[in-house]
Amino acid sequence: MKATNRKTKISVIVPCYNEAEALPYFYEEMNRIADGMQENDFEILFINDGSRDATLDEMKQLAARDARVKYISFSRNFGKEAAIYAGLKHADGDLVAIMDADLQDPPSLLPQMYHAVMEEGYDSAATRRVTRKGEPQIRSFFARQFYKLMNKISDTDIVDGARDFRLMNRPFVNALLELGEYNRFSKGLFGWVGFQTKWIEFENVERVAGETKWSFWKLLAYSIEGIVAFSTKPLAIASYMGVGMCGVGALAIIFVIVRQLLFGGSAFGWPSLVCIILFLGGLQLLCIGILGTYLSKTYLEVKHRPIYICKETNLPDEE
Ligand code: UDP
Ligand code: MG
Repeated sequence: MKATNRKTKISVIVPCYNEAEALPYFYEEMNRIADGMQENDFEILFINDGSRDATLDEMKQLAARDARVKYISFSRNFGKEAAIYAGLKHADGDLVAIMDADLQDPPSLLPQMYHAVMEEGYDSAATRRVTRKGEPQIRSFFARQFYKLMNKISDTDIVDGARDFRLMNRPFVNALLELGEYNRFSKGLFGWVGFQTKWIEFENVERVAGETKWSFWKLLAYSIEGIVAFSTKPLAIASYMGVGMCGVGALAIIFVIVRQLLFGGSAFGWPSLVCIILFLGGLQLLCIGILGTYLSKTYLEVKHRPIYICKETNLPDEE
């Protein structure tokens, strides 16, 4: 795929939400790496995901200084997934990389990723962190459980510790763009499209400035989104539970009738009855909840709302 008489262009997509403090560090480091990759042209595509701080000003300053810097600014916070989609849509490089603004995705891995795609024949080079140093223990624990569960119930392979940080070739990017769904769970989409991916491992790096945008609850909602987007097993589990409960009920009826015929006497056991009613009531609500979750995602999907709204940009082709 290497063009013969021009440099291979790499587009770097950087989703930013309140990253004014981190951006200068990011730009400096990215610049250093780009300088070291003389055989490539670069384009840095900053996506301002409705930041409330000076992120956009920071981007404009960088764009004024450096023609390789492009920015797209959203009308509000649409989430990192929407930012990634906007970036993929507007990146025009031969290769496209996605990178966090806080330097937790070390740009220094880029030459290695580039080598994997251009020389080793992979379609994409992805990264995964092998440690979660510097992260709250409880968060790591739940994250690990999530990946275990996810791999059990979904057909798409989702790698533990996988970052969104990856370098992709054109066919890979075009395949991702074909998936125009509203509920985007990139970690699953990357796996779903197939292709050959090389995994590069690295140790966790703490963010250079600012703070994480993900609270525990936001992560929990995100993981439910991931499950709903990539597995319908919870729906099947709900029906299995229904069948199981019917079986238990049938056995109980037989038991009560036989006991009545053999031993007679009046019916007793009101406390146990209350327990059973509560249990079954809870189970029914749980199943309706599972159903509702899928329904709500379907509802959002069929509305066909745009994934993001661009308010301001220095790209020529954006509306
Ligand atoms: N981000 C975003 N929109 C959001 C939340 C986060 O674009 O609603 C960006 C953020 O600016 C950063 C990346 O996504 O570049 C990862 O976010 P963060 O570092 O807060 O997550 P963590 O590394 O702690 O998982
Ligand atoms: Mg981070």
